[in-house]
Amino acid sequence: MTDTIIQLEQLHKTFQMGTQEVRAVDGLTLDLPVGSFTIIQGPSGSGKSTLLYMIGGLDTPTSGRIVVHGRDLSGLDENELAYYRRKQVGYIFQSFNLVSNMTALENVAFPLRFGGVAPKERKQRAMQMLELVGLADRADHRPTELSGGQQQRVAVARALINHPLLILADEPTGNLDSRSGFRLMNFLKTLNEQGTTIIMVSHDPRLTHFASELVYLLDGKRVSEEEFNAGNQMLEMMEEEN
Ligand code: ADP
Ligand code: MG
Repeated sequence: MTDTIIQLEQLHKTFQMGTQEVRAVDGLTLDLPVGSFTIIQGPSGSGKSTLLYMIGGLDTPTSGRIVVHGRDLSGLDENELAYYRRKQVGYIFQSFNLVSNMTALENVAFPLRFGGVAPKERKQRAMQMLELVGLADRADHRPTELSGGQQQRVAVARALINHPLLILADEPTGNLDSRSGFRLMNFLKTLNEQGTTIIMVSHDPRLTHFASELVYLLDGKRVSEEEFNAGNQMLEMMEEEN
């Protein structure tokens, strides 16, 4: 039996927009094994980011459970939740989310501020991470002085600095050219082979071969690959008509 790292049980997230209810995540049940590389596919608006935020402890479900390593996230107190977010999860966003007035090195070192690590050691560890993503020679550059691909590698280095058990990546290749995107995917794959569990959301079907598990989402619900492809074709036809 493989160990489960993430269990989702009847997970719901509903947003109230005036009189309208938006069911962003609508009854998701899912088990993900330790060491897996999950890719969640879904068109825009299907609930991918909402799902990732909840798994990362950045947002709370309307109902249902998220169990990480056997512990229900809703049962964690504030300190435990902060520890989970900062130390156990590494988050990579589509828009990089780097701090613009900090250098690459300072951005990577940033998560260590909360961990009681001395400044000198922070710098050393951040430098090692930049070496790992091949950007040691850009340590003093600010985000605007880096290409999109380089910025995303800085964001990856930042996500990895606390050696998280789990990487959550929200369309990390979305703002990259195909070459940089491919490079990032290969990097994530290597990381996964070394034991880090990865959950990535994407609407790029070319990336699915990197996955050990594939989850298809439509309107916040898990669907089969066949239903997904049929649903996608319909969406494309509707877009062409518009
Ligand atoms: P995806 O990442 O797949 O594009 P999202 O998770 O961002 O989808 O959004 C899913 C649905 O939930 C969309 O209809 C979106 O408009 C809605 N939604 C997301 N966040 C909010 C929010 N904070 N308030 C209201 N509606 C939201
Ligand atoms: Mg999204």
